[in-house]
Amino acid sequence: TGKFFVGGNWKCNGTKDSITKLVSDLNSAALEPDADVVVAPPFVYIDQVKNSLTDRIDISAQNSWVQKGGAFTGEISVEQLKDIGCKWVILGHSERRHIIGEDDQFIGKKAAYALSEGLGVIACIGELLQEREAGKTFEVCYRQLKAFADAVPSWDNIVIAYEPVWAIGTGKVATPLQAQEVHVAVRDWLKKNVSEEVASKTRIIYGGSVNGSNCAELAKQEDIDGFLVGGASLKGPEFATIVNSIT
Ligand code: 13P
Repeated sequence: TGKFFVGGNWKCNGTKDSITKLVSDLNSAALEPDADVVVAPPFVYIDQVKNSLTDRIDISAQNSWVQKGGAFTGEISVEQLKDIGCKWVILGHSERRHIIGEDDQFIGKKAAYALSEGLGVIACIGELLQEREAGKTFEVCYRQLKAFADAVPSWDNIVIAYEPVWAIGTGKVATPLQAQEVHVAVRDWLKKNVSEEVASKTRIIYGGSVNGSNCAELAKQEDIDGFLVGGASLKGPEFATIVNSIT
């Protein structure tokens, strides 16, 4: 459904030197033309990346402030992100939910504000291991989806990233069927609670230990419309392999 979408979330990694190398590897990689490709550098390197990376790849931020900028020490506003050339922002990432403590409502407000200013939103959802083991995977994902749905006026500029927390940075990738099962459930939720059109158009991408070796099997699943990649996005050639797993 929709154009294959692959995002590289660099998280809090990199130096000027390592990012120069990564950008140069990305610039020389052959990327399938039919995929949307986005990278999310740490804020402080966005300008460096914007000025050196091929226009073929769009830039995302990893977070944004919930309203217009001003007296909010340490925050980065949506206006500033647009000013330096970001097209997207990742919101609701599990590390921000579970380590920093952002809640559903706050994340929903951030999404609404970013969209209102014209940024695309990569809206992340996903259950913890104990929630999966307690049989609460769908319940948690639906609750997180509802918070987005309640806050945003339109889904035109949203990509949903399903990232089971137990799969993030652990090397324990979800099986293609485990991911597909949740993606179908998410699409079904959108159909029932938003609209049939949004359900069929919205891209649902998978994240959590995606790498160059497991991406092809995952990409074959009907409802996996791309990936959000952490660790493997720090290696240019491997990230290109993931982009090129488009089916
Ligand atoms: P890993 O690919 O390192 O598991 O990270 C996934 C992720 O959190 C992307 O946002």
